Amino acid sequence: MNADISVRDATAGELIGSLRRTLAETSAPMIALHEPEFKGREKEYVADCIETGWVSSLGDYIVRFERMVAEACGVKHAVATVNGTAALHIALLLAGVKQGDEVLAPALTFIATINAITYCGAIPHFVDSETTSLGIDAVKLGAYLDAIAEHRDGSVVNRKTGRRIAAFLPMHTFGHPVDLDAIIALAERWGIPLVEDAAESLGSRYKGRPVGGFGLVGAISFNGNKIVTTGGGGCVLTNDDTIARRAKHITTTAKHKHDWAFVHDEIGYNYRLPNLNAALGCAQMERLDSFLDRKRALAKRYEAAFHNSNGFIFMREPDYATSNYWLNAVLLAPELAASRDLILEMTNAAGFGVRPVWTLIPKLEMYADSPRMDLSCAEDIERRLINIPSSPALAGT
Ligand SMILES: *Cc1c(COP(=O)(O)O)cnc(C)c1O
Repeated sequence: MNADISVRDATAGELIGSLRRTLAETSAPMIALHEPEFKGREKEYVADCIETGWVSSLGDYIVRFERMVAEACGVKHAVATVNGTAALHIALLLAGVKQGDEVLAPALTFIATINAITYCGAIPHFVDSETTSLGIDAVKLGAYLDAIAEHRDGSVVNRKTGRRIAAFLPMHTFGHPVDLDAIIALAERWGIPLVEDAAESLGSRYKGRPVGGFGLVGAISFNGNKIVTTGGGGCVLTNDDTIARRAKHITTTAKHKHDWAFVHDEIGYNYRLPNLNAALGCAQMERLDSFLDRKRALAKRYEAAFHNSNGFIFMREPDYATSNYWLNAVLLAPELAASRDLILEMTNAAGFGVRPVWTLIPKLEMYADSPRMDLSCAEDIERRLINIPSSPALAGT
């Protein structure tokens, strides 16, 4: 047998063995990457909506859900939306992102982060990542901005494109918080607003404080694969009363409060979360601590399983953070990167839902012409990162 093939097979064997040992108590033929769990009052709350008729755009569960999310994220206001992408769109609009602006965002992220920029008519400007958090590299970004940006008429302008740089949009990858202090320092130095894509990081903490509320405005997702789900849903997060009021207004068609007349004072969006989904969300939020505890326990088990591995490095939370460990991840040893897809194939065939990280967004056709800095670290992570099964139920019930 060819030496490369035997190394590859041995590496896949090691991954499969580690997953088998770690997940020994699970008997399902296929272990999914991430599955929701409904063992609280979900049925009761959803049935209540149906029985009372309050299934749609108004209802008590929406108010309750927003309060629960705001409390968990340590912010004054959470405004519920139909999904996380819509929340991000609104967050960027309310941070002042306009047609023709640029927004600094990671190349290594889910497509929604970047599409939300495009919905504002703005252009993503791709930033490299670092390997501690997998999020944007603030040190590298700082040096890059020194080289390409300047203050002009009260704005920060990209000297190469002439466009205004309107916002920083970091993302907490798989729940691991980015180094917020370093990013906030940059944002303050340049006077650029910070918008947090906290879609994956409900319950994660940076230096003890929940993420999502560090920027002017943030966004979170409650999609079916996230740590807490409303089926589909999101929230805009902010400590700013005006932004919160504006977020509610433009996500609900910008309609004036009136008993019967239809008066809308601007072009708004129908981005509200139905009460039915909020009901599911309330029951899920009641279980957040249980989800977090079990995901932590699972991560600890994985950390131990990969402790002495030559082929894999387990992605643990950065020292400054407490991660929600939304998706556990391992980095393949650099010399094995070329075998990644075959390792994924063999491990999936063995019944473990493992996935590669996202394709870097600037490699996608729609964003091939967007400006970017050197992305060598993000490219390296893209070649080597594998997500492994992470449902809370894998650590018991
Ligand atoms: C899930 C996710 C979103 C979007 O959330 P949806 O609710 O699916 O629209 C945005 N950004 C990141 C990083 C995500 O993982």
